[in-house]
Amino acid sequence: MTTIQNQFLEWPFFDDAHRDYAARFEAWVAAHHDPLACAGQTETEAVRAQARLLGAGGWLQALLPASLGGSREKVDVRTLCLTRDILARVSGLADCTFAMQGLGAVPIVLFGTPAQQRQYLPRMADGTCITGFCLSETEAGSDVSALQTGAKREGDRYVLNGRKTWISNAGVGHTFVVFARTGEAPGARGLSAFVVDADTPGFSVPQSIEVVAPHVIGTVAFDDCRVPASCMLGQPGEGFKVAMATLDVMRSTVGAAALGFARRALAEATAHVRTRKVFGQALAQFQATQMRIADMALDVETAALLVYRAAWTKDTLRDRVTLEASMAKLHATEAAQRVIDSAVQLLGGLGVTAGSTVERLYREIRPLRIYEGTSEIQKLIIGGQVLGK
Ligand SMILES: Cc1cc2nc3c(=O)[nH]c(=O)nc-3n(C[C@H](O)[C@H](O)[C@H](O)COP(=O)(O)OP(=O)(O)OC[C@H]3O[C@@H](n4cnc5c(N)ncnc54)[C@H](O)[C@@H]3O)c2cc1C
Repeated sequence: MTTIQNQFLEWPFFDDAHRDYAARFEAWVAAHHDPLACAGQTETEAVRAQARLLGAGGWLQALLPASLGGSREKVDVRTLCLTRDILARVSGLADCTFAMQGLGAVPIVLFGTPAQQRQYLPRMADGTCITGFCLSETEAGSDVSALQTGAKREGDRYVLNGRKTWISNAGVGHTFVVFARTGEAPGARGLSAFVVDADTPGFSVPQSIEVVAPHVIGTVAFDDCRVPASCMLGQPGEGFKVAMATLDVMRSTVGAAALGFARRALAEATAHVRTRKVFGQALAQFQATQMRIADMALDVETAALLVYRAAWTKDTLRDRVTLEASMAKLHATEAAQRVIDSAVQLLGGLGVTAGSTVERLYREIRPLRIYEGTSEIQKLIIGGQVLGK
């Protein structure tokens, strides 16, 4: 994929270790392209295989700080973004597999007790423990404070009851970070987080959901699901804090995945317009095509700037990057949708032919404008931050 430009790695957001990491990971992904694409496997089989492959390659170590086996002192958001940027160029499902290991591991890194970290993180990092993040419910998507799943304390246990929906890895995951109402205060301040194994009695996956692009996702039910009180992550009532701190790490990486999709679409489009002849000349010779390519390139570069600015800010300046991460996620996902739509248009009929790369990208990008906070919610966050709310 030589048309994908990597000059962005020269930006001052990165150090030599990032450049080295990106080069090694890109080479590894190229060598493992087929297993990562997982042709001929069910989505569940593919997620299992990809998690093990990424784990065996050592790439999931990026989710851990040095004290727990990672290579950097703390979880490095630029490395996570580089990983998703590069993975998304070849496989949306592989990118999602990496992201879900992050959504399960990062809350345990940030809030887990040493015992929880010892129990889960090594297996999450070698890909043998597949994980997920159970926040959303039918009536509580954008509005997390409406969450109804309850966790009632009974002696040395909590009893969980309720239903979660749109839970990625439902049906394939071994362990989930689950958010439930413990009632310390009204709304978002009355939630707590738990680490729950999928084989706990009372935990079930009653339904899988088919979405536009390959993705293991479904509903998760808790019916008198009893977990030891030691499964709580953080303190009672800290669930919203756990969720937001995790999203502060992971939200920029959604933008990075969108960026990877957009880079691939731009590469596909530029390769096509150079060779496709219409009205006696290459499509690339027409100024209208050049202007469209310019818009696409501008969208890719501005997305990259915002994504890596947010990641660099988190890694080097301060812990809370709510504004920067929301801007990165909003702009990169919306820009990628535009870039991919343009690529489809430039490829003409080939662009909508099932199985073509840009057709796949067209389906893969869509959920990124919805999950981990819709574009509208990102605007509300950005507006609120700018207005000092
Ligand atoms: C592929 C995929 C994977 C997912 N994976 C997970 C997962 O692993 N774990 C998990 O917990 N959740 C997951 N989700 C759920 C996701 O986070 C929610 O779908 C998302 O937060 C939106 O919630 P909702 O679907 O209920 O939409 P709603 O909240 O009902 O929103 C519907 C529309 O209303 C808009 N809207 C909402 N509030 C406002 C407002 N105040 N002003 C203006 N517009 C507004 C929204 O932007 C949206 O356009 C996933 C979703 C998808 C699609």
